[in-house]
Amino acid sequence: QTIAAIEASQPTINAFTHVAGDSAMAAAERVDADRKAGRTLGPLAGLPVAIKDVLCTSDMPTTCSSEMLRGFVPPYNATVVSKLTAAGAIVIGKTNMDEFAMGASTETSAMGVTRNPWDEARTPGGSSGGAAAAVACGAVSLSIGTDTGGSIRQPAAFCGITGLKPTYGRCSRYGLVAFASSLDQAGPMGWSVDDVAIGLQAMAGYDPADSTSVDHPVPDYRAVLQSTDLRGLKIGVLRDSINQDGVSDAVRRSVEDAERVFQELGAEIVEISLQHSPYWVPTYYVIAPCEASSNLSRFDGAHYGHRAMRAADAVDEGEGVMGPLETMYRTSRAAGFGSEVKRRIIVGTYALSAGYYDAYYNQALKVRRLIRGDYDAAFDQADLLLGPVTPSPAFRLGENVDDPIAMYLCDLFTVGANLAGVPAISLPGGLDDQGLPVGIQLQGPVMEESRLLFAGGAFQ
Ligand code: GLN
Repeated sequence: QTIAAIEASQPTINAFTHVAGDSAMAAAERVDADRKAGRTLGPLAGLPVAIKDVLCTSDMPTTCSSEMLRGFVPPYNATVVSKLTAAGAIVIGKTNMDEFAMGASTETSAMGVTRNPWDEARTPGGSSGGAAAAVACGAVSLSIGTDTGGSIRQPAAFCGITGLKPTYGRCSRYGLVAFASSLDQAGPMGWSVDDVAIGLQAMAGYDPADSTSVDHPVPDYRAVLQSTDLRGLKIGVLRDSINQDGVSDAVRRSVEDAERVFQELGAEIVEISLQHSPYWVPTYYVIAPCEASSNLSRFDGAHYGHRAMRAADAVDEGEGVMGPLETMYRTSRAAGFGSEVKRRIIVGTYALSAGYYDAYYNQALKVRRLIRGDYDAAFDQADLLLGPVTPSPAFRLGENVDDPIAMYLCDLFTVGANLAGVPAISLPGGLDDQGLPVGIQLQGPVMEESRLLFAGGAFQ
């Protein structure tokens, strides 16, 4: 049934880069056999889950929506994928994304754009646009995305679904193809807060294979969904963010409406300002490309990735000094990477180069520390922070493709949580006057995903 729903949506929505056939059927049959034999079933037994194509799967391709990895089948599963299947989930397919997760619209994918099921002329957001659209078009109730600077929360907001970016280190990054290692985190996207709670339950936990994963007990995330009484909870509204220029009325209204709902549920509202928030985007767009340029150096046609077979494919710029190996690297990378990925590699390599390292990368690290300090201070005054996810609802396909700065500004409200490592959830916050979904965002202290789910569950 799920496969039929996916296949029906593919020609228009294009949420998937690969649809599982036999492997999904075999997994479903195993669950059936277990059920008939009366064996204990996992908590997600038989649940179809779609996985962003940046997470390694050993029985299907993992392409990062890049020519560089077209057809690549990894020899192992990402830890979060193994954990989901161990809980009984069936990996039903891989979802489309911006190439190597760089983008905010799924338009940089080498596998074609994904369309927003609410309005096919618009983007589903990105980079986890396929994962969001797969849920929004009804094919699956749970998908797994990744969020380096907003890639779970922004597409969730554009597609009217719920998406959670866990604390950095809450879920293992083993088998998640790295974009910016100090920011990347996988997380659940679903129809409801309950869906993301059961997804997170299966994914979370320490993994010795990821040295940055945190050894911290995994609580029962669904236990907190029983109550809608928010008395005693202090919610800090990020007033500066909704009053900024460029924030649409619908976004401002949805945050103000949410404020009222939280108040009615018993929460106390306070005003919070994160002082260094104007530096979030510039800091992120130094640190993320720096880490990307280093992570992506492995795709050279020898260690990993597309190999240009003929030196004649090389763009001859009269560099007679290049040997055959260098020519192979150069032509492989030129052909394998798309233009946004190349832009990030160039920016990152420049910012990390000897003469500029202190001025850019080191400086960005210092600002990152200040940003973290703002969050620490904010969580002394409030239990959660409420604000927008994006400056506006889903924009039209093509609208920002030629304007990288406009595209980067989509991340205005999301990159703070990644720089600080804190968890954050995007919740459906109503529709604008054109009927497009608008999201609201809650951010919480490190390892307090339960608090986000509690408040989110009460709100929904
Ligand atoms: N839009 C941001 C970027 O392009 C975030 C991407 C992400 O979270 N993977 O870097």
